[in-house]
Parts: sequence; C-alpha cells; structure tokens
Amino acid sequence: MPLDEFSIIQKYFSSLGESQGISLGVGDDCAILDIPKGKQLAVTVDTLVEGIHFPVRASPADIAHRSLRVNLSDIAAMGADPHWFTLALTLPEVSDSWLHQFSQALLTDALSFGCALVGGDTTAGPLSITIQVLGTVSQGKPLIRGGAQEGDSIYITGSLGEGAAALSLFDATSDLARIATKDTLNRLLQRFYRPEPRLKEGAYLRDLASAAIDISDGLIADLGHIAKSSGLGANIELDRLPIASWLLALAEPSYIEDWVLFGGDDYELCFTVPNRNKDLIESMISSRELNAVYIGKMSKIPGVRCFDSRGQAVELKKSGYQHF
Ligand code: ADP
Ligand code: MG
Repeated sequence: MPLDEFSIIQKYFSSLGESQGISLGVGDDCAILDIPKGKQLAVTVDTLVEGIHFPVRASPADIAHRSLRVNLSDIAAMGADPHWFTLALTLPEVSDSWLHQFSQALLTDALSFGCALVGGDTTAGPLSITIQVLGTVSQGKPLIRGGAQEGDSIYITGSLGEGAAALSLFDATSDLARIATKDTLNRLLQRFYRPEPRLKEGAYLRDLASAAIDISDGLIADLGHIAKSSGLGANIELDRLPIASWLLALAEPSYIEDWVLFGGDDYELCFTVPNRNKDLIESMISSRELNAVYIGKMSKIPGVRCFDSRGQAVELKKSGYQHF
C-alpha cells in the first residue's frame, strides 16, 4: 500500500538537518523559530518544476541538491547565514526509493550548509519542488543590490559560463553532449545540479562589499540589476572574466562568450567594493582566502558596457534570461 501524506512526512521529512533556534519544527501547524537579538530574517524561495527547471527523469538526489543550493545562493548573496528551510513537494506518485534518495541528498546538504528542515507541504501532481530558506543577517547590514557607488570595483567569485554550457547538454539541437568527454560531462552536470552556494564568500563580504547579487540569469543581466538598483552603470573588461581553461577548450569563442555573458545558472557572486576596502579584498584574493577576480568598475552612465584589452567598446548582442 502506498504511503499516505502523513507517513511520507514522518518517514522522510520529520527531522532533516540541524540548526539553532527551532522552538517547534515539523509537525504542528506552523514552525516556531527564534531570531537572535540584533538579527533580521532573510527569506528566499525558489520553485523547480520538472521538464522546465530540470530534465524529466533527473535523479532524485540531483533534484534535491539543486533545489536547496539555488536558494542558499540567494542567502549567500545577501551576506546572510542560512538556518532553516521549508519544502513544498508535489509528487506525481509515491515512490519509496525516490523519496529515500531525495531526502538523503537533502539531509547531506542540510548538514553541510548548517540548516534544518522545519516544515512544508506535500501534495499530488506534476513533480515540483519549492524550497524556502530562512536565514539571518545582522540588523541593518544586508548586502543589497542597490548599495554600489560610482567608482566601486566589480568582482566575480569562481568562474563563469559552466552553468549555461551544462544547460546546452539538455538541448537536443546542441551536439555538446555527444562531443564532450566523460570527464567534461561530469563537470558540467555537477555544476548544474550541485552549484556551490558562496556562503563563505558572502560572509567575508558582508562588511567589505557595497552590493552583491548571485548570478542566476547571466552576468550582464545580474550586474545590470546591481547597476539599476544603485542608480548607476557598469564597465567590464572582457579579458578579465574568469573562465575555466577546460571550458574554453570546449566550444567556439562565440558560444563561450554567450555562456559567460548571457548564460545563467552559474550561482557565483558578483559584488562591488568601495576603494577603501579594495586593498583588503585584493590581499584576501592573493592569499587565496577569497576566490574572486576584479572585472571592472561602476560608472555614472547607466547600462552595462564591455571593453576589450585595448579599451575599445565591444557591442553586446542581447541581454540576460527572461522567464516569460
Ligand atoms: P496543515 O494541514 O496544517 O498545513 P500538513 O498536514 O500539511 O499540515 O503538514 C503537517 C506538518 O508536516 C506541518 O508541520 C508541515 O509543516 C509538515 N510538512 C508537510 N509536508 C512537509 C514536507 N514535505 N517537508 C517537511 N515538512 C512537511
Ligand atoms: Mg499543509
């Protein structure tokens, strides 16, 4: 006999992860959480629908990792610390093995990122996963998009383009899946299903950066959000963009440029640093405490512009991903 809703919750989702401040977790009408004095709540939610945000028949573990991590990336971009999350799960059928793999993967990430499941909802329907993460940030100190000033330096963590390259593996008109080596394929799928939420970097930056965003819709679009919210524009130097050498070897330069500038799903942080903190950021980068590179400066002129190594403006073809 298939499990009913209450048995599913009890068996798989009643206790997942560990965190402070849980007065009441899964099992009552609401979760009751204690917010430490001097902190504010940072709340974010993302829905992943099968066939739209991940391919049909993706593994339950992959789906779990991605669902939690894309939310943690938003928490990182605010300079917040994750503590709790909720899970609204819509399932087409009840499969013990699917639920086991899904909940175990969620548990692994919950433990490694220091958050705990405190509630949710379980319904029948087309496969969809909504996770909401709740975190805290020191009162009045969130790392918002609108804090950049003219002349602030722009930085990017990690490397760009791999998320978008991974997406083309799911595109039947792309031959990437056929030509990529097994090693490359694994790297790309890892990047797509297990993006690294830059929580450590976000914590370093909370007192040093003036603005931040996580790159989910592409560098041009997301840096554009920082620029617009700050009432500014941005100039970036294309040659400085961090691109892994194995990715450069994978496709024609025009594809790479497209992935790096307009592709989403990298979940790196793009952040701006005022001049007074630049030396400190540079020394953290030199000592490898912080994995980030300088890519340009905020400017008074609205819009995001790219320049080549000779300082010549490079025309951009399009803007970032639009959901509709
Ligand atoms: P209600 O009808 O009051 O919303 P539910 O029957 O939906 O209660 O849920 C019972 C309890 O189980 C609640 O505490 C709810 O937060 C929790 N819950 C339901 N589904 C999930 C889930 N997928 N993951 C975690 N907790 C869940
Ligand atoms: Mg409910």
